[in-house]
Amino acid sequence: MKKYSYGKQTISSDDIKSVIDTLKSDYLTQGPKVKEFEDKLCQVTGAKYAVAVSNGTAALHLAVLALGIGVGDEGITTPITFVASANCLRYVGANVKFADIEEDTGLIDPKEIIKQISPRTKVLIPVHYAGQSCDMEEISKIAKKHKLYIIEDAAHAIGSTYKGHKVGSCKYSDLTTFSFHPVKTITTGEGGAITTNNPELYKKLITMRTHGVVQRPDTSPWFYEMQELGYNYRLPDVLAALGISQLNKLNEFVHKRRELVAIYQKELGAEKRFRFLEEKKHNYSAFHLWPLLTNFSKTHTDKVSIFNKLKSLGIRLQVHYIPVHMQPYYIKSGFQEDSFPKAKNFYEQELSLPLYPDLTAEDIRTISNSIKKIIF
Ligand SMILES: *Cc1c(COP(=O)(O)O)cnc(C)c1O
Repeated sequence: MKKYSYGKQTISSDDIKSVIDTLKSDYLTQGPKVKEFEDKLCQVTGAKYAVAVSNGTAALHLAVLALGIGVGDEGITTPITFVASANCLRYVGANVKFADIEEDTGLIDPKEIIKQISPRTKVLIPVHYAGQSCDMEEISKIAKKHKLYIIEDAAHAIGSTYKGHKVGSCKYSDLTTFSFHPVKTITTGEGGAITTNNPELYKKLITMRTHGVVQRPDTSPWFYEMQELGYNYRLPDVLAALGISQLNKLNEFVHKRRELVAIYQKELGAEKRFRFLEEKKHNYSAFHLWPLLTNFSKTHTDKVSIFNKLKSLGIRLQVHYIPVHMQPYYIKSGFQEDSFPKAKNFYEQELSLPLYPDLTAEDIRTISNSIKKIIF
């Protein structure tokens, strides 16, 4: 029986060669591949600067640090995201607020953002859930009016565009963060990056990625200086080499994902009991995820039984996400399960279907047939 998961890396011989060549070179880390990967990220996103880091969570942490956010400040993100989008604020002692989502896209609702703004709010962290960009024009208007920073969490959205601008271009934001975990559109095993057009933020990110240390050859040849508390959030050259060969195939990966999504739409789109998220006219999504939405209060059996039944057929789905405000850590800080009813409802309805470039049209039809048979 063929087994399917919701997401998976695509590795081919050029990726393997790229990594082996770097293993044979002088630098496993802190060598030339990191800069080469960063330059390529700039090309792909249209941003002036890119900083490669050890993972997407480190990217979010450095982004928040670079903006000088700290104790007493607040940031606003969506509950329908991975926990890291909120946790990055807690790392620097800032408070987390959430804004509920739009039902048709699963994305943070700009109208809900406005309701959450207080005099302490410093930053908005919209998340391009499933690959589709948030309504950045609207969100950047709100940020301008209230003098807020914007960090785009684009862990799902490398290769996506919004109103003709590539996600990561920072046309509507101060910083954009990416993750290259194997389930994401391109991978470096573990890895992440931040893009920006702001030279001061760039300098800060570079310093904070390596212990807050700067070289001072003007003083003496060995001299370095630590003026700020930084981290070791570096991406090794071995992984940057994988990132370079993966980025060469980004367009191919995204095209394939979109082709597979079109087959899901054809196979399942007409079934009244299922709903898919809407791709807005001005958006081109890289489709990191393909969420299927079902009202399980109207199906013959509950979501858990359906999930397990599909698993026994080799279709191992996942739910994206348990709303972050419903996590015990955030419940302890005062949120209630139904603080964000649309997010909670979305969680109850959502199942992410298998979607990755190695799947064939036949795979999608097989999976769709099982879905139709099991969920009724
Ligand atoms: C994967 C992900 C992250 C974190 O990335 P890591 O590389 O796993 O640390 C952050 N935000 C979102 C929305 C993600 O999906």
